[in-house]
Amino acid sequence: MMTDAFIGLGSNLEDPAAQLARAVTALATLPNTVFVAQSPFYASRPVGPQDQPDFVNGAVWLRTSLTPHALLDHLQSIEHRHGRERLRHWGPRTLDLDLLIFGDQTIADDRLTMPHKELPNRDFALQPLLDLNPDLTLPDGRPIKALREHCPDNHLRKLPPANRDPFSPT
Ligand code: AMP
Repeated sequence: MMTDAFIGLGSNLEDPAAQLARAVTALATLPNTVFVAQSPFYASRPVGPQDQPDFVNGAVWLRTSLTPHALLDHLQSIEHRHGRERLRHWGPRTLDLDLLIFGDQTIADDRLTMPHKELPNRDFALQPLLDLNPDLTLPDGRPIKALREHCPDNHLRKLPPANRDPFSPT
């Protein structure tokens, strides 16, 4: 059975847009997984400490027969291959991949909270999801569109395509 999975991407170090573009390519070639679409990329102000560069964020829509935990394993392996370093909580990072939504599944265990617990508070995750699918809802029925209207403002700026997907997998 294939499940629709939505991945949030973020980076604010070492050419963030290129980090995201490479991550999109890696996500597009995961086993047992079909790549559906990628969102535009956005620049956003950091959450937490402000003495760090702005982030670049985006989202990817996959259809997969992987389990959510197997998909998380792949996301963490892509993060590590991209030299992810994080020196402090909510500090700068080369690549952050979050499993935002996995079909209609809700999960709360040691490794995985599904949907991602910060999703309703993050316009830089909600807006790319809306770009991918304006009718998307959480498993509890809440529309992503309504969450986007009520979440805190991180000053999103949509980046032009040339800045976002130099390595786009077409
Ligand atoms: P962070 O690097 O801040 O995104 O947090 C990574 C940690 O969050 C890892 O230990 C994951 O096991 C855990 N985690 C819990 N839920 C999720 C999720 N939905 N997506 C990604 N990581 C998650």
